Amino acid sequence: MRVITTAKPMMDFAEDVKSNGKSIGFVPTMGALHQGHLSLIKAAKEENEAVVVSVFVNPTQFNNATDLEKYPRTFDEDKRLLEQAGVDIMFFPSVSEIYPNEMGNTPVFDLDGLDSTMEGPNRPGHFNGVVQVVMRLFDLVRPSAAFFGEKDFQQLAIIKHMTRKLRYDVNIVGCPTVRESDGLAMSSRNVRLTDNGRKLAPVIFNTLNQLQSEMQNNSSSSAISKAENKLSSNSDIKLEYLELVNPQTLQPATDDSEAIQACIAAWIDDVRLIDNMRVK
Ligand code: AMP
Repeated sequence: MRVITTAKPMMDFAEDVKSNGKSIGFVPTMGALHQGHLSLIKAAKEENEAVVVSVFVNPTQFNNATDLEKYPRTFDEDKRLLEQAGVDIMFFPSVSEIYPNEMGNTPVFDLDGLDSTMEGPNRPGHFNGVVQVVMRLFDLVRPSAAFFGEKDFQQLAIIKHMTRKLRYDVNIVGCPTVRESDGLAMSSRNVRLTDNGRKLAPVIFNTLNQLQSEMQNNSSSSAISKAENKLSSNSDIKLEYLELVNPQTLQPATDDSEAIQACIAAWIDDVRLIDNMRVK
């Protein structure tokens, strides 16, 4: 495995692979890798001749300075895991390599309402930062396919939309959420949980499961209030939002909606956790 830290050799590698008629599978990450990331890499390897994984903690998508500062950074272990997974290129650029000009967060383009719910209003500027970095990475890596987790449900929808809107010739592949044995969605932020917080955290997944079964016989409003009660019964968890949305438009769902995705963001130990589930 080669570790590339600057734009030019990354572009040269892409050019070389492409001119040989081979495909590049790309997995963008912020590092502190876990089994969730590795499942994306496995999918990328199955479908492509070359696999590039970027490890870049993107400052423009953090709307909270403490979150950015405390984001885990584990380069040596990440490198070991990527080598073991048979990745061709670990792309580990500096901030100035990704943003050679001004690192602003001016709106890239209109996300057509996909950012008007859930993470959008709760993390102002977040998706603009995500779109900004993914565009830049696509331009450098030139993948045929890019792999994203369904854990970040809204992000996946926005990346699909961006790719269509800007006519990138990249197949966006969504991969299922990988969970710990107690149901907690794997996340790089989980390592920041205290022992007590870690024990409490599966309540998010359990609430989604309960919501799913409640929805079978009850109205969504009664299912939602039961779920909110379950979460608010423990003062160590602070619910930021629990929303039922149409999985395509991400707009609020109604009882008549054919498909409904439940999405939760909650704080435990000052760590922000998100999860989601198809409940109808
Ligand atoms: P991150 O490093 O958190 O930016 O995540 C990089 C990619 O891994 C994103 O596409 C995430 O959606 C995906 N991902 C993170 N956690 C999981 C998980 N538990 N299961 C599947 N994919 C995940």
